[in-house]
Amino acid sequence: MATSFFNEKNGDSQLTIYAMGNCHIDTAWLWTYDETKRKCARSWSSTLRLMDSYPKLNFAISQAQQIVWLRENYPQLYERVIEKAKEGRFFGVGGSWVEMDGNLPSGESFVRQLLYGQREFQQVFGRASDTFWLPDTFGYSAQLPQIMEAAGMTRFVTQKMSWSLINKFPHSSFWWEGIDGTKVLAHFPPHHYCAEVTVQECLETAENFRDKGRNNGAMMLYGHGDGGGGPTADILERLDRLANCDGIPKIVTATPTQFFDQLEKDGDSLCLWSGELFLELHNATYTTQADVKKMNRMCEFLLREQEFVQAIRFAQTGEFRSMEAEWKLVLLNQFHDVLPGTSIADVYFDAKNIYRRV
Ligand SMILES: [Zn+2]
Repeated sequence: MATSFFNEKNGDSQLTIYAMGNCHIDTAWLWTYDETKRKCARSWSSTLRLMDSYPKLNFAISQAQQIVWLRENYPQLYERVIEKAKEGRFFGVGGSWVEMDGNLPSGESFVRQLLYGQREFQQVFGRASDTFWLPDTFGYSAQLPQIMEAAGMTRFVTQKMSWSLINKFPHSSFWWEGIDGTKVLAHFPPHHYCAEVTVQECLETAENFRDKGRNNGAMMLYGHGDGGGGPTADILERLDRLANCDGIPKIVTATPTQFFDQLEKDGDSLCLWSGELFLELHNATYTTQADVKKMNRMCEFLLREQEFVQAIRFAQTGEFRSMEAEWKLVLLNQFHDVLPGTSIADVYFDAKNIYRRV
């Protein structure tokens, strides 16, 4: 009875949902960096196990720092993730060292986030990411399109703008133009980044999608998140049953690249948003934990000056000391719940120790 109901096919004009597994693992928030290392291992090992039973399951890994932690602390698990990555089941997205704050870091820091992130992705997954992935950051500087493009990413995913208190952002799929005129293709999945592929979520995805008539696809990022977890058997069973069921958007399994390839075909129909993406929420994050913001800026200046010194030294002696290790520590603390001030006190104890070390 249920099977015949789920097999009633959809009409051709239904919205298509491009579903992909993920588990938003905040690099620190209501827990410390050390706990995140364990969260990565737990979330990705349970995802690995589910992949054996559910061939549709594919999974996005963002944040190069988390992959490095897995390699250092759980080398056998890391090797299993790499094996599945070769089959295309795990794939890297975002190209950044961590999913950083989108307003407070300097331009140089943004560049380093993507430079070190993309290098790591290239090494681990054999290819750099083409999609910049910051689902949970509290607003986006208009510098970012130019920096993204320079780092090889012309596509952008976030979900956060739907959290704005007063003005609803008018688009789900659009061109985002930066201060220098660079345009990147942007998509806001119309549902939360911790979707569970329920009928209600699928219907709300269609209802919240704001660019009907311009394109007929939307992303759905499924899997428990905001601290890891990832997909479950229940979610994957629903993904199967609802794939083509009358009255509900069609669901296909896809990578961000596949989603954006189809979106790009309708690129001429999409609207343009020029300048900053301002989030009307979390505004107190600009004044909270001021010490951390000050130390971030001091370290950014220190590292830049040190690089000048090292460049002169290189010119005179042929010797040079890279600041990469110190930069990666500063980049870590730029995570979107650390630098903005939204984490627990223990996180700031660790963060300040890191700044003192730098
Ligand atoms: Zn987050």
